[in-house]
Amino acid sequence: MSQYKKDDFSIKYAAISSKEFKEDVTFYYGVKTTGIFCKPGCSSRLPKPQNVVFFNNTMNAVQSGFRPCKRCKPLTEPGNKYSGLITTICRIIEESEEEPTLKQLSNKTEYSETSIQKIFKKITGISPKEYASAIKAQRFKDELHKGSSVTSAIYSAGYGSSSRVYENVKNILAMSPSKYRDSGKGVELRVEVFPCILGFVLIAFTDMGVSTIELGDSEESLMSLFKLKFENGKIKGLTFEDKKMVEIILSKIENPDEIIDIPLDIHGTIFQKKVWNALRNIPFGETRTYSDIAIQIGKPKSVRAVANACGKNEIAILIPCHRVVRKNGELAGYKWGKERKVKLLDNEKNRKI
Ligand SMILES: [Zn+2]
Repeated sequence: MSQYKKDDFSIKYAAISSKEFKEDVTFYYGVKTTGIFCKPGCSSRLPKPQNVVFFNNTMNAVQSGFRPCKRCKPLTEPGNKYSGLITTICRIIEESEEEPTLKQLSNKTEYSETSIQKIFKKITGISPKEYASAIKAQRFKDELHKGSSVTSAIYSAGYGSSSRVYENVKNILAMSPSKYRDSGKGVELRVEVFPCILGFVLIAFTDMGVSTIELGDSEESLMSLFKLKFENGKIKGLTFEDKKMVEIILSKIENPDEIIDIPLDIHGTIFQKKVWNALRNIPFGETRTYSDIAIQIGKPKSVRAVANACGKNEIAILIPCHRVVRKNGELAGYKWGKERKVKLLDNEKNRKI
């Protein structure tokens, strides 16, 4: 849609597609299928958009478990005299089964332990130890993906005990290992992205009903995030029946006063479901505050938790979290962009009259 500028993802993807090398690197990209990250301009094969993830700096890439590309050497500036050293250290860490000690790294590179620690940290932003644990976490993820049990993945990745995994990996996986392995497992999701007056809308169905409606600026970014979230699910295109419902949803986005009845497949805690249910009862064209909702669900003190639950809503429009505003009349944030919230509320107000 013309008023929506190309999103960040498309701009960056276009930049890496051009393979144009820039002196000033402002972002890096990881390739999910290989676990390697590069800087724009790398001569390696262009990955498919759905396999690309962008990072603002090398630290984020490394901490997410991506290894630096051997070709474009993203960890080092061209001509940096330590470039070879960093690459060697990374390689030693990647290839060792047990995490190498600083002393071992020192023996293999002929730099002192202190220098290694200092130089590595200065250039990559993290310590060799942190790099090692990121690599380990990545191995662990790979094992889970291959379908290994949590226990065997723990040992294959080189963790000594399970308690350490839960400590370290939880941050990286953002959920518990067994939950990660099962993310979307066995669930069949049918999904497609459509242009709409708010940019693009991703609509997903399960056999129970609409499970996701997300708004975004491009098909690629919506799809790649969705696939990342349900990487163990079976993702398919929409059926004829689904498409009929899509028509209704798209029309509802433009004509918010339409009353529609579409089954939703809602997943959340009991508290979240209560909040979402309250949101669904806010009449079209009206707004409520977070504390109104808190009172309504009988938890007048849980204003912040209500706001959190609104932020966790995965079904835009049909669970109208855009109708919740701050007490002082401010709009407050919106998961899918304030610009869209303004547009939705204006549209409702105009139609109310
Ligand atoms: Zn590269």
